[in-house]
Amino acid sequence: MFKKILIANRGEIACRVAATARRMAVKTVAVYSDADAAAKHVQACDEAVHIGGSAPEDSYLRWERIIEAAKATGAQAIHPGYGFLSENEAFASACLEAGLVFIGPPASAIRAMGLKAQSKQLMEKAGVPLVPGYHGADQAPALLAREAGRIGYPVLIKASAGGGGKGMRTVDKAEDFAAALASCQREARNSFGDEAVLVEKYVTRPRHIEIQVFGDSQGNYVYLFERDCSVQRRHQKVLEEAPAPGMTPALRKQMGEAAVAAARAVNYVGAGTVEFIVEQAKSVDSSRGDSMNFFFMEMNTRLQVEHPVTEAITGLDLVEWQLRVACGEPLPLRQEQLRIDGHAIEARICAENPDNNFLPATGTLRVYRKPECSSFERAPVRIDDGVREGDAISPYYDSMIAKLIVHADTREQALARLDEALAATHIVGLATNVQFLRHVVQSRSFAQADLDTALIPREAAVLFNQQPVGLELAAAAAVAQTLLDEQALEGNDPFSRRDGWRSHGVATRRLEFQFGGEQAKAQLVTSHDGGLQLTVNGRSFPLTFRRQGSGLEIGHGDQRTRALIYTLGETDHVFTARGAAQIVSIDLLAHAGEGVAEGGRLTAPMPGKVVSFSVKAGDKVSKGQALAVMEAMKMEHTIAAPADGTVAELLYAPGDQVAEGAELLKIAV
Ligand code: ADP
Ligand code: ADP
Ligand code: MG
Repeated sequence: MFKKILIANRGEIACRVAATARRMAVKTVAVYSDADAAAKHVQACDEAVHIGGSAPEDSYLRWERIIEAAKATGAQAIHPGYGFLSENEAFASACLEAGLVFIGPPASAIRAMGLKAQSKQLMEKAGVPLVPGYHGADQAPALLAREAGRIGYPVLIKASAGGGGKGMRTVDKAEDFAAALASCQREARNSFGDEAVLVEKYVTRPRHIEIQVFGDSQGNYVYLFERDCSVQRRHQKVLEEAPAPGMTPALRKQMGEAAVAAARAVNYVGAGTVEFIVEQAKSVDSSRGDSMNFFFMEMNTRLQVEHPVTEAITGLDLVEWQLRVACGEPLPLRQEQLRIDGHAIEARICAENPDNNFLPATGTLRVYRKPECSSFERAPVRIDDGVREGDAISPYYDSMIAKLIVHADTREQALARLDEALAATHIVGLATNVQFLRHVVQSRSFAQADLDTALIPREAAVLFNQQPVGLELAAAAAVAQTLLDEQALEGNDPFSRRDGWRSHGVATRRLEFQFGGEQAKAQLVTSHDGGLQLTVNGRSFPLTFRRQGSGLEIGHGDQRTRALIYTLGETDHVFTARGAAQIVSIDLLAHAGEGVAEGGRLTAPMPGKVVSFSVKAGDKVSKGQALAVMEAMKMEHTIAAPADGTVAELLYAPGDQVAEGAELLKIAV
């Protein structure tokens, strides 16, 4: 085995590789950019080398610099992770020339599978079924249009050098072909520096099912079964699972053998994934007899983001296999020794706003709390990430924060476990898709395994712009949190402070919130026995709360909800089993000048203590003049005259506790 390897990547995949290396007593070298100087992956490795600026082209894509770093630190091999240099044949060759092992396939296999058009030509020869289409070298627009007509609309134009869901255009009719082609070529040229395209039949409502393959340098191959990655947005994966629902042993064998044939055709070594598009011909009778036709789409010549679901159902460590194979060892197991155990689902937790067309978000993970889980190893709940609470998701790299992988005996149990784990994943500080993922998991289509790449648009009505926690619960949580915070500040029971008000009868406190882009008015009434009644936008309900573990149990009306609340500034981030919400409490004291009297009365905007009066009976005052100082929540607030007039009477003395709305002094106008 290698003594030391360099990991030419960052984030969760760099941490993932480091974890297995550590377990195998292989030393690791991290590389890092300016932005990643204090990153988790740097700490996860035994040593680290700074390789340049934050932009990928200044660091993680600078392969000469990375090879230098490997030589300088005495690393024997380089693991490229996924993305960045992982599918770069020049890098793979350069490693070899520098006397380093590239932990991946030979450069020739990367080249053969690098362009979609060429790889389809190869696969055709190897007898692997292809999506009907045109993948020739002649790129004359008229010829491409003719081919599209022959294939039959709708068609998909794809950048041959494309990846990451980019460079694809669906075309429904012949009139639109020329414009779509031009726009696809433009994107292909800009993103991949190569405008060659292929044209494919657009399979409607297809499933994306891929096969994990492994080869060794002795020419042995196995397939580690399939992953269903049909749930996608923008042709990118959102949820991945194994095994694929509805997969039959016969089809699995057929697809597995086709994938192995694909790998064998390019003398593949190491971990690879053969992606198939699967057409589902729904049979008329409902007895799950759907027939599925599969077609080769592309081969990814690297470890895949979603490899943990395969690790979950096979009990294997794919990074360990990669290291063994790269050292020249044979595959640890033969095909007939491989078994599927249970069901696994991965959810990609990303910094993005699903309600705004999945716009990527950046920001600091002010709160990042996870359910009970393990990392980088098989477990009922596994979370692989490369960030810690307090770290930032920067604009330089992709928006994935973490991968949450669940494993259970059945799909149904895995689904329940996933929903529960997502509910316990609390991220504050930037937009994430956590809530959206829960809606997908709970959707009818996903729950019933009615999977295809159009699942998200089909279920849009229950996935987007959802508000699982209503205003009343959010307001109740915010009030409960405020009262507890006040208690902490006062250092005594929240109710004792209001005892002073009881001489005035029932205490009332006015509140304002911002929730879901709307303003809400609320009122909290404390009765003689200490009971609380909260009125939000005119609807009243009794409010109770008590601490429970690190959270609160909130009673609102006849419901009880357990909530975890994180307060950042004026915003409370409320997490419950049902979902999460944000509510902003508008501090009326901060707006004290606005909250005062109408027509000669001057009232306290909030409950608190009178500190001083700066006027006495008989004094003339002008509008805006400071009249009194009140204290609440250990802060002083000045009360100003609402109008010109004469002070008729002071109704309190300094030191008195007053309730919200209490009249402090009378002014004759
Ligand atoms: P997978 O097929 O493993 O699910 P993704 O398509 O999500 O992989 O891509 C894995 C990683 O590789 C991501 O970080 C993605 O941004 C990156 N990636 C994929 N294809 C390309 C490409 N052609 N150019 C640059 N980055 C890519
Ligand atoms: P990338 O290299 O960007 O991953 P792929 O060729 O793997 O590109 O396609 C990405 C996704 O686009 C697939 O997972 C699938 O959802 C969709 N797709 C690709 N080809 C077709 C097709 N012929 N018909 C319908 N959808 C397709
Ligand atoms: Mg793909």
